[in-house]
Amino acid sequence: AKAAGKSCVRTAGHAIDSAMGRRAQLAADLPAAIEQEQFRVVYQPVAGVEERRILGLEALVRWDHPVLGTVPPDEFIELAEADGLIVPLQQWVLRTATADFADLLAGGRDLKLGVNVSVRHVQAGCLAPDVAQALADSGVPPDRLMIEVTESIMLDAEDRLQSDLSTLRDMGCIISLDDFGRGYSSLAYLARLPVDVLKMDREFIGGIETDPRGAALVAAVVELGRTLGMDVVAEGVETAGQLHALRDMKCRYVQGWLLGRPMAAQDLPAFMAAFDPA
Ligand code: C2E
Ligand code: CA
Ligand code: CA
Ligand code: CA
Repeated sequence: AKAAGKSCVRTAGHAIDSAMGRRAQLAADLPAAIEQEQFRVVYQPVAGVEERRILGLEALVRWDHPVLGTVPPDEFIELAEADGLIVPLQQWVLRTATADFADLLAGGRDLKLGVNVSVRHVQAGCLAPDVAQALADSGVPPDRLMIEVTESIMLDAEDRLQSDLSTLRDMGCIISLDDFGRGYSSLAYLARLPVDVLKMDREFIGGIETDPRGAALVAAVVELGRTLGMDVVAEGVETAGQLHALRDMKCRYVQGWLLGRPMAAQDLPAFMAAFDPA
């Protein structure tokens, strides 16, 4: 992303305005940030437990604010959704991530790319065409792209989402249900939506070693995935003990700080080479 010199002067004005809260400042600065592409995409590895290899990457957006430094997505996605800026931002993320990913595929790696999508993008009606465009422009095959949707999206746009996801799936894309288990109506959505992958929320993984009920739940979700023919990814794996517990449960895919933190595209080839077994 390019940090434009001019914008530094303008946003510095906001920073010294003590009457403005951080959130208000971020909201005020967001339109210019999108215009000037003050964003970057980092990639977190997803590993196969048995393969002991990196099999996928999740694209996660960051905002390099000229005054406040790196702003995490939890702080600005919601703001972007509130005023319609999420669609151009999401288009930029899709374009950037597929372009970066095309370079990695050209290096001969067998990988999948996960991209998070916003409910507003679905409601705007351009999710499927934007995905198709990014795939066409980058040359990334559709079956390498995983579209990550959360339960909160369903609450707001279920009908539209159902048809979008069916379209994307017909194109060959993989559909994953993100943060699975965080809401309470997950099972109903599983029955209604075309889903290939369950990403188990990290809240469940945190207690897997200490809380027998929590561990039983994780095992049950892994089994549910197997029964429904869905892959299961455990999110937020931070310790070797958690990884061993997941391996015993025959959970196939893991993501989390133990395996690797989100990183710049340019750092991925060396990281993956070092990670792979000899
Ligand atoms: P998510 O999709 O659940 O992404 C996983 C989040 O968990 C990431 O936070 C990642 O950095 C964090 N994480 C990964 N491993 C661990 C771990 O071992 N321990 C802990 N404590 N955390 C871990 P991040 O990057 O801050 O993203 C937060 C959320 O923002 C994402 O949650 C996703 O919902 C949203 N988001 C990120 N990028 C995009 C985007 O391009 N578009 C949209 N619409 N949403 C995005
Ligand atoms: Ca490229
Ligand atoms: Ca995700
Ligand atoms: Ca998640």
